[in-house]
Amino acid sequence: MLMEGLAKFPPRPTGAGDMFQLFRDGAPRTRASLVTETGQSRSTVAARIDALRSIGLLAPAGEATSTGGRPPSTFAFDPASHLAMGVDLGATHARIAVTDLAAEPITMIDEPLAIADGPDRVLTWVAETGRKLVAQTGREMEDLVGIGIGLPGPVDHRTGRPVNPPIMPGWGDSDVPAELFARLGAPVMVDNDVNIMALGEHRTTAPDVDDLLFVKVATGIGAGVIMDGHLRRGAQGAAGDLGHIAVPGPADIPCRCGNTGCLEAVAGGGAIAARLRQQGIAVETTQDIVDLVRSGDVAAGQAVRQAGRDIGSVLAASVSLLNPARIVVGGILAGAGEHLMAGIREVVYQRSLPLATRDLRITPSEAGAPAGVVGAATLVTEQYLAPSSVETLITAKEVM
Ligand SMILES: [Zn+2]
Repeated sequence: MLMEGLAKFPPRPTGAGDMFQLFRDGAPRTRASLVTETGQSRSTVAARIDALRSIGLLAPAGEATSTGGRPPSTFAFDPASHLAMGVDLGATHARIAVTDLAAEPITMIDEPLAIADGPDRVLTWVAETGRKLVAQTGREMEDLVGIGIGLPGPVDHRTGRPVNPPIMPGWGDSDVPAELFARLGAPVMVDNDVNIMALGEHRTTAPDVDDLLFVKVATGIGAGVIMDGHLRRGAQGAAGDLGHIAVPGPADIPCRCGNTGCLEAVAGGGAIAARLRQQGIAVETTQDIVDLVRSGDVAAGQAVRQAGRDIGSVLAASVSLLNPARIVVGGILAGAGEHLMAGIREVVYQRSLPLATRDLRITPSEAGAPAGVVGAATLVTEQYLAPSSVETLITAKEVM
């Protein structure tokens, strides 16, 4: 039951860090409007604006229209005051962006890079390239408040270390946060590639959708779970690992994880390619499958549609469990277009309860390639701009 009375009394911000959250919508505000919005005295509001200006997060934003007398000054969030860095490492490519505090890229680079070269070579390249990008923006390294990095494998969220990453030889348990901090001198946050893609997609194309599942369909299959507007990682950071849920049905196909019948072993790019080869069709990579489907190959189209149905059967269970408002499908195989989406939609709508699918939309990713770096930078900005972090910055400034 909706409790009508509560909506009229939302929790009011108390500290400067809380008050700053109001500004994150980008709209300028006057002292008087903040007095109304926060219920705090004019002197308290004025002191908090001064404190937020002292750490660079607020800046004057011109004058409001006056109702008579001197027009009041307005203030707004100044995302240009500092920089964040987002790094997206794949199996064979790397992308780095330097962004502002709204995770908007200012400059970006995309280069081939083999993750199998190991942490030392890869992180040294990240640090050198990252420094060049910061220099390109005309800013100093001191302006960089943190680095977010996505890795193509499981990451222990508590330590930021990769855990048994199958396609990252030499990276197991390596201390990525410490290694990159030593090279760049700013705090480092590590997550898996699917989580940063989910964050980037959410931020770029669906900021108003609080409950969203992002599904990456490529050689592997995984998902990022956004609930109540926040990325949910579970106890160890393993939430969303759809690829190793067993597909309903008599599937005895062995998976690289040691089980049989996993979604990835049945519907991942490798599985589809193997099935097509059995039919005498020459395919090697997941991109080959996408190219075949796009060229109108009927067998490839059917194989991708069946993969969509298998993915849909696991997603139907996720829909019952989490009731997302949106499922976004990304990854290389999403480039195969409607065949994959049609297979997924067919089974999800058939197998989920009507209430859960009444307003559910299943859409292909729209954020495209930069989603990963935007999401990685978002890891940093969300932490840096959180109320407690803003309070700490103000206290540190006052002590200086
Ligand atoms: Zn498996």
